[in-house]
Amino acid sequence: MSKREAEKRVYPVSNPGALVQERRDEYLAGLTAVVDSGRYVGGPAVEEFEKSMAAYLGTEHVVGVSNGLDALRLIFEGYIKLGRLKEGDKVLIPANTYIASALSVTDAGLVPVPVDVSFRTLNLDSSLLEEAIGKAEADGSKVRALLTVHLYGRTAWDEKMGQIAREHNLIVVEDLAQAIGAEYIAPDGSRRRAGSLGDAAGLSFYPTKNLGAMGDAGAVATSDSELAKAVRALANYGSDRRYHNIYQGYNCRLDPIQAAVLSVGLRHFEDDNRKREMLASFYYDWLRNPAVKLPDQAPEGTNVYHQMVVRFPADKRDKWREELAAEGVMTDIHYPEPFYRQPCYSGASWAQSTWPVTERLADEIVSIPVYPVMEPVDIAAVSQIINKLK
Ligand SMILES: *Cc1c(COP(=O)(O)O)cnc(C)c1O
Repeated sequence: MSKREAEKRVYPVSNPGALVQERRDEYLAGLTAVVDSGRYVGGPAVEEFEKSMAAYLGTEHVVGVSNGLDALRLIFEGYIKLGRLKEGDKVLIPANTYIASALSVTDAGLVPVPVDVSFRTLNLDSSLLEEAIGKAEADGSKVRALLTVHLYGRTAWDEKMGQIAREHNLIVVEDLAQAIGAEYIAPDGSRRRAGSLGDAAGLSFYPTKNLGAMGDAGAVATSDSELAKAVRALANYGSDRRYHNIYQGYNCRLDPIQAAVLSVGLRHFEDDNRKREMLASFYYDWLRNPAVKLPDQAPEGTNVYHQMVVRFPADKRDKWREELAAEGVMTDIHYPEPFYRQPCYSGASWAQSTWPVTERLADEIVSIPVYPVMEPVDIAAVSQIINKLK
């Protein structure tokens, strides 16, 4: 191996371990407190985290749960228990998203109505919503909810979406797994955090997410006290108080060990997101390969860049990813196959259609490295390598 090769940096797509190492002592102190507390389910570590997260998002309630999928699923099941949704109701959902968004709908016995996304945002295209509702209701069923997914860190909300949701009386659920900290900027300049835009939001703290636990963890955020109570009960065997079960529930609680980890992460979270935004803005300045397309920088809200997603020409994507890997630049595809084409949904009537933008994205998108321990020089190095691809 030559000296130059030996020195070559490797850039993973994300690097949660490196961030934890920077704050190792803080994490160990938080974990030690839980170890010494003797409380290993529930207790002050969970309560403290729930309070801080609610204050951060601007919602009245946060209920810690086991993971992001459970968070979303418990929201839908909670609405069913409260009689505000019923089995078979339809839910609008972006065609381009992680399968967990769709699973949360189908697990609850609801029916997804996929709506295509835009090349500009890679997120739900609100100009397609009205037509999608009309088509979905042609069989006499009702569209009752909208699951908007702030994918890749970008706020998926606009005035039109809000207006359609109001006109059709839709329950708005936010999939906030990838975008905690992102903000919607209204036309009058006022700002609101994603997670407080709709009726309820599901958060994921999977280790590679912007706020990562050391294992699986999630949360539900809402300002609806009835829903918060229903979700808390469902996640705790369906009990509203000890040994009193109003629902046939589950065990989907947030562990105090994870809550302690998350409280440490939350203290640094704004800095981490600002760093991601700064690094991503350098990609916008320095990526100069005419065959590489970038989504536009969101005027309708902020982007906390969970992933930096660009588009390569479909016929060159595999070759370019190999060339990048050889240069130490790791990439990933979020996601190579749309959820509605997965084998588990092959028999689903709602999945028998095509969503052309999503399908083209699946052939072109590439996630390139962005995470808070990177520095501007790293972005310059990665950009230079991408700019040479032919
Ligand atoms: C990660 C993720 C989820 C699921 O969260 P888990 O904690 O992994 O269960 C849901 N939706 C989206 C968009 C995600 O990225």
